[in-house]
Amino acid sequence: MVLVNENYLKLQKNYLFSDIARKTRDFIAANPKAPIIKLGIGDTTLPLPPTVIKAFHDAVDEMADATTFRGYGPEQGYAFLRELIVEHEYRTRGVSIQIDEIFISDGSKCDTGNILDIFGRNTIAISDPSYPVYVDTNVMAGNAGDPTNHGQYSNIVYLPCNESNLFKPEIPAFHVDLIYLCSPNNPTGTALNYGEMKSWVDYALRENAIILFDAAYERFITEDQIPHSIYEIPEAQKVAIEFRSFSKTAGFTGTRCAFTVVPKDLLGFDSNQKNFSIHALWNRRHCTKFNGVSYPVQKAIAAIYSQKGSEEILRNIQYYQHNAQIIRDGLNKAGLEFYGGINSPYIWVKSPQDKSSWELFDLFLHQMHIIGTPGSGFGPNGEGYFRLTAFGSQKDTQCAIERIQNYDFNA
Ligand SMILES: *Cc1c(COP(=O)(O)O)cnc(C)c1O
Repeated sequence: MVLVNENYLKLQKNYLFSDIARKTRDFIAANPKAPIIKLGIGDTTLPLPPTVIKAFHDAVDEMADATTFRGYGPEQGYAFLRELIVEHEYRTRGVSIQIDEIFISDGSKCDTGNILDIFGRNTIAISDPSYPVYVDTNVMAGNAGDPTNHGQYSNIVYLPCNESNLFKPEIPAFHVDLIYLCSPNNPTGTALNYGEMKSWVDYALRENAIILFDAAYERFITEDQIPHSIYEIPEAQKVAIEFRSFSKTAGFTGTRCAFTVVPKDLLGFDSNQKNFSIHALWNRRHCTKFNGVSYPVQKAIAAIYSQKGSEEILRNIQYYQHNAQIIRDGLNKAGLEFYGGINSPYIWVKSPQDKSSWELFDLFLHQMHIIGTPGSGFGPNGEGYFRLTAFGSQKDTQCAIERIQNYDFNA
């Protein structure tokens, strides 16, 4: 008899995207001619730019020739890429990260989940609403207690993010060990400023806590007071691990590449209060369970740091930012309240007339033929909100906004 990992049995079925898909399918079956516009899923849509594609092709060609063929590369990533990251993501911002503190991977979703391998039983704080991966991977790792009837779990500290704190998690008045922060935030579209980030770093220094900082949307930052990296805060290298995905910032959702920064100053403890290097543990975990990202993908990502590549990537980001602006202007004209969309591709719309997230979803689908994401799917504090994304085409975005403006929400 084979025993299963019973932690998995505690997972609550995440109905969010399957329910959206089912409702959409049913609606299309009944209304085959309805011109549906999808502004729901957090996925990029623009193709990879020419410089990136050329680097990708060239690297594939190298694989076809015995003199340039490459087999296994370094598990942590090729030095050419880690050097570019250190230079362009950190040194230019006055942050000193060492090359061997960078770990290249095939995604931040796996890294944010896998990082739990190296930690013991801790008190974990997670924003509500949040990217669902943080909670579910803690359940899998056995860090969560039983499900509550609000769709949460005992043993996890939820940091409510709502209108009263402008969707920014507040520092707890008690001790926690691990804190997930995501800025700019998915799903709320808000971003922590320097002072807010510093308060979290100060808390972690005081409490011997570690911050797991997810900056998947860093390239979407437009405002000066928003740090692009948590390491812009002094001493953050003693208390923070940073996850940086190329998925949204460079359109690599399908191609897969990310990196994680694990500073050598980070310390964890055993039950006898002896300290251990978190970096050494992660390096051990990474090299044992992972064999590196493919060479062509790493070459393709390296190309985004060339002059031409960075301009092309910037143009794609600006395209999405322009969509976000179209959505913001349109919602303003329609008289709807919303947050985000300035440092983020996400716009967090408040339901008018106290409608629930799913009621608003149905209204948008049936009356305007627009698909968004119900906020309640990201946690109980997301109830009453609706997420729109700037990842659609400009034409679709414009068209969706016209429909929203022409709809009478008071009818
Ligand atoms: C999209 C997203 C990621 C990216 O995950 P990948 O596995 O790198 O594609 C990470 N964190 C958040 C919050 C995201 O929304």
